[in-house]
Amino acid sequence: MAVKRIRTEVYFDGEHLFRDGPFLVTIRGDSIASIAPATPGSAPADVAVPFLMPGLVEAHAHLFLDGALLDRAERSAYLAAAPARMLATARTNVEKCLRAGVTVVRDAGDRYGINHAIRGELRQRRPVAIEVRSSGTGLRRASRYGAFAARAIDPDGIVAAVADICRTSEHVKVMLTGIVDFETGDVKGAPQFDVEELALIVQQARALDRPTLVHCSGVAGLEVAVAAGVDSIEHGFFMTRDILHKMAEKDIAWAPTFSPVYAQWARPELMGLPGGASDNLARILDAHREHVAMAHRLGVALLAGSDAGSQGVDHGSGLIDELLHMLAAGVPLAAVLTSATARPRRRWAMPPARIAAGQGTDLILLDRCPFDDPEALREVRGVIKGSACLNFTDHGTSGMADSSPGTVLHDNKPAVNSLPDGRS
Ligand SMILES: [Zn+2]
Repeated sequence: MAVKRIRTEVYFDGEHLFRDGPFLVTIRGDSIASIAPATPGSAPADVAVPFLMPGLVEAHAHLFLDGALLDRAERSAYLAAAPARMLATARTNVEKCLRAGVTVVRDAGDRYGINHAIRGELRQRRPVAIEVRSSGTGLRRASRYGAFAARAIDPDGIVAAVADICRTSEHVKVMLTGIVDFETGDVKGAPQFDVEELALIVQQARALDRPTLVHCSGVAGLEVAVAAGVDSIEHGFFMTRDILHKMAEKDIAWAPTFSPVYAQWARPELMGLPGGASDNLARILDAHREHVAMAHRLGVALLAGSDAGSQGVDHGSGLIDELLHMLAAGVPLAAVLTSATARPRRRWAMPPARIAAGQGTDLILLDRCPFDDPEALREVRGVIKGSACLNFTDHGTSGMADSSPGTVLHDNKPAVNSLPDGRS
């Protein structure tokens, strides 16, 4: 039996909070037929929850990497693992995402093709509650940062390389700078592409309707990314007010990815960082919080992406951590949630997933209201997307007042059983 009616006390539609419930959300087929105040005369609900919102969008993850794998030597060795092992990791990661309420993952690049492979597997399944948007293999310069996620190209190979990526990828990833050096507290090396080269990548991708996401930290790289007019800046450490103004003006999005740097700061013993690095990390994170709050005030389009797969950043829970980092930086919760729901879908020309009559179902059910306690985002009871309906609670313990236990899960098995390799 499918869920036809959900009673909720509060819901967030992707941009606005509706508190004056209870509401009755009626689903017909794979769309929301109506939302109306729940009254004593309303039809009985199949399930009652405190809170509903659209499925979450993870804007930056690497599905082939296991963020829970902490040992540095093991992480290096993993990059030589067999494709079957990497694909198994991606399956586990997709499952972790679903359980965290993530229904869309943008994979930010891998050179092994696992992002395309897992996307293909998920597309084979009906119904499926999560979709992967793949960047395939990103672009970088030879001998520069990003070999795990990108192919090396020369400037004269840009047009052909972008066309090749766009044949199979929803996004074009570019490695523009190196990573943050925590020992020195800055970014190593000059940008990998100049303004003209990067603008050519952006223009070629845009001609094929593909947004560009650009790995970039440090002022030199940020200046290039902004001048080239990329679609989104990923990481963006060492941001400045001046660059944020330009980003707002040019409508360049920002996925600040607090999580990987926070993980380094929180577990220095795992990272083998020398003394002094932790002060640098604290300083970098403080400045990042300040600039993310400033970005919100200036109207820069923030996107929530955790860089899951990075050391210490697990899939699914990493995105929730990221949302809480944005909140702690001073971005109001509604804006944080928009950065992980309505905004990425709009910017990527996807169906909106708005909780409103006439919209396709893509929603998550929470056991508590995150506007009372943001930690409630960690307690996803279930996901309803299209004709997929997943219940993450144990039968008989869900407290679904208006529902006999298990009816949220109609013709599908729980998420753990519904994924491609049939693990349970
Ligand atoms: Zn990344």
